[in-house]
This record gives sequence, structure tokens and C-alpha cells, in this order.
Amino acid sequence: MKQDIIVIGAGPAGLSFARDMAETGLKITLIEKQPEIVLADPPYDGREIALTHLSYKIMNDLGMWDLIAKDDISLIKTAKVMNGHSPYALSFDHTEAGENNLGFMISNNRIRKAAYESLKGYDNIQILCEKEVASLGTDSGLGWVELKDGARLEAPLIVAADSRFSTTRRMMGISTSMLDFGRTCVVCTMSAELPHDDTAYECFHFDRTLAVLPLNNNQVSVVITLPSEESATLLSMSKEDFAKDIERRTESRFGAMALTSELFPYPLVATFAKKFHARRFAVVGDAAVGMHPVTAHGFNLGLRGAHTLAKELKNTLQTGGDIGSYTPLERYSRVHVRTCTPLYHGTNILVKLYTKDTPAAKFARRALLRLGNRIKPAKRLIMNQLTENKAA
Ligand SMILES: Cc1cc2nc3c(=O)[nH]c(=O)nc-3n(C[C@H](O)[C@H](O)[C@H](O)COP(=O)(O)OP(=O)(O)OC[C@H]3O[C@@H](n4cnc5c(N)ncnc54)[C@H](O)[C@@H]3O)c2cc1C
Repeated sequence: MKQDIIVIGAGPAGLSFARDMAETGLKITLIEKQPEIVLADPPYDGREIALTHLSYKIMNDLGMWDLIAKDDISLIKTAKVMNGHSPYALSFDHTEAGENNLGFMISNNRIRKAAYESLKGYDNIQILCEKEVASLGTDSGLGWVELKDGARLEAPLIVAADSRFSTTRRMMGISTSMLDFGRTCVVCTMSAELPHDDTAYECFHFDRTLAVLPLNNNQVSVVITLPSEESATLLSMSKEDFAKDIERRTESRFGAMALTSELFPYPLVATFAKKFHARRFAVVGDAAVGMHPVTAHGFNLGLRGAHTLAKELKNTLQTGGDIGSYTPLERYSRVHVRTCTPLYHGTNILVKLYTKDTPAAKFARRALLRLGNRIKPAKRLIMNQLTENKAA
């Protein structure tokens, strides 16, 4: 079967990339191991994704934003970063960014659903569900994918969007640096008695971090990262004990709290592909860079990368070029590596600094928060990174 582009993985990054390319009329086939019914209505997975202004713009341009009900979009207006039990906070406010809000909160399953629905009506795009790749390869003229059911697909370009543990990236010989934090992120939603005032709190309690992110209807998304060996104890707590524990850790800032979802554990491994492209092959989304969630950049970067790749491919099409050739893939890679590198390493340094309990780390944390508040250009830089409003 001859295609123009084969995309492996119909997660949010793969689907967004396909939607970005949909209007070119190219024949695009996505290969996905999950059943179509799951793509059409993905179950809640506990992830509430903080989206930047740039992501809003891209999703809006792709017609994905309007597919999400207004009530499913919450706003972050203020963000506070806190160290240990000190009341001192590094604060960011939307007014300093000159925006109505710092960012948006949408659950991952709503984003996936919107990305899937945005492809409806494009006959040039098909999704082959419940299929897995057995092998793939490329030569100077073509790429091919063999599925486990024996089917073979060919295209001048293959794009891998099959998660941070991408097997096709490995099959194409792209090595990846991986950072296993030995920690687990546990996420859930809770109701709060007192208003959260659209404020996101990131509290670094030494060995454990706790983020409380604002959602509509006085709900909050709670994100706990802790050493993996402690996660079993947390996951086995009763709903009531868990709620009391969070109330205590947040010093009753939200009044009485109650669990409104189950607890979802995610082991934390950050990944950075050594190359974002090979011959007639590119990686996007988490397959390119899998971020630690503490700075909430993962999908934002995935969407941005998919958009960058789509832009390069469209430019190539306009000049009658070959979309699988070296030039557009190398340009995508250069731009996206430049965007991701400081954020990836910056996030990992932050994680290390905020999980160490040495006196030097404690001092550095205190100093960073204070300097962050006082040095306006540094604060503006962090805010621009958080909101991506200057990149929009
Ligand atoms: C707790 C947590 C909180 C997060 N919070 C944020 C946040 O606030 N902001 C943010 O921007 N990001 C956040 N992220 C990151 C975000 O969830 C990911 O970056 C995003 O989901 C990655 O999308 P993706 O499409 O690249 O990969 P995935 O979502 O992993 O999708 C990959 C797809 O490929 C399919 N697949 C895999 N292997 C194969 C194969 N061999 N053949 C066929 N199909 C295959 C899978 O079934 C899946 O559908 C968070 C992540 C976590 C864990």
C-alpha cells in the first residue's frame, strides 16, 4: 500500500501532526495499537495538561480548540513556587505577562479526543487501529513498514510518534539518553472547599513535590512526585486518609478536600533522542523528547515540534521538493533541538535541586526563589518559557 506519510502512534502528537498536514491532501496513514473506540473516547487518565499560549494558538489554528467544551478548559492566572514549609513564594501573575491568564488546563483525554475528532472529514487520512509495527526500514528513495499482521506499507516519509519508549526509534538506530529518576508521579483530581483563585501551586517538600493546579468547579488537579518505593503506600491509602494527608500538606489552604478520581501512578523517566531524524524518518512528540512533568512542557513541546515539522514539509511541497529528503528533516531537527535542549536540561537540573535535601541545595533553592522574584529580566524569561506567549 503506497502512502505519502506513515505516522506511527495516534497519541496527541501523532494526531496533531496528521491534522497539521491534512490540508495538503497528502495520503497519510496512522498506525496505532489501541482500538479506535479508545481513540474516539479516551478514558480519563488523571493527567490535567497545562497548555501554553503557543499551544492554544496551534490547537486553535488546527480546529482542535473549538472541539473542547468551554467548561473543560480551566485557566491558570497565578503560579506560586514554594520551598519546604516556608510561606515565601516565587510568584508569577498573568498581569505581569500582559495576558488574561498564564496558561490553560485541559485533561489529556479531552485533548486526545479533540485531536482525533479534528481529523473527521479528511478522506486523505486513515488510522489503522489495533496494528503494531513488526519492522521498518528506509532506503534513499522510500520507507516501508511491516505490520505484525503481515501487511506492508510504503511511503517517502515515516514519522514516529509512538511515545518516549518508541520502539521504532530504536529500530531506526536512533539512540536516546534516558534519565530514570527512580520516582513516581501520582495524579488525581480533588474537590476543594475554599476557592483556589485560579492559582497553581508547586510546593517542593524536599523528597516529595506537590503541585495543586486549578480546575473549574472548584476542583484541583493534585500531582505528587515521590520516591517510587513510597508510592505503593500512597496508592493503598483510603480515600479519606489520602484527602487528610493532602489537606495537611497544603496546610488547609483549600479547606476540606475530597478525592474525585482514582489515583494514577506514572513512573518518571525523561528521554531525549540523540537525533530527531534519520533517512526518511523523523521522531515527534515524546518520541523526540519525553519531559519530566514538573515544568509541564511535554505535550506543549510535542505539539510545537509536530507543527515545526509540518511547516518544513509544507515549504518543501511548495517548491516541489521531496518531503522525505534530508533538508526538511534536518531543518525540523535543528529548530526543535534548539527549542527543547534548554528546557530539558533546565527541568532536570530543577528536579535534582528540588529533591536534594543537602544544606547546599536548600540554600540554593531559597536563593533561587528570592532572586527569581527580584531580578525582573530573569523572572520575565521564566514567565515567557512558562506561557510561551512570546513564541505565539
Ligand atoms: C503525570 C503527567 C503530567 C503531565 N502534564 C503535562 C502538562 O501539564 N503539560 C504538558 O505539556 N505535558 C504534560 N505531560 C506530558 C504529556 O502527557 C505527553 O507529552 C504527551 O501525552 C505525549 O504525547 P505523544 O503523542 O507524544 O505520546 P503518547 O501520549 O505516549 O502516545 C503514543 C501513542 O503511540 C501508540 N503506540 C506506541 N507504540 C506503538 C507501536 N509500536 N505501534 C503503534 N502504536 C504505538 C500508543 O498507543 C499511543 O497512542 C504530562 C505527563 C504526565 C505523565
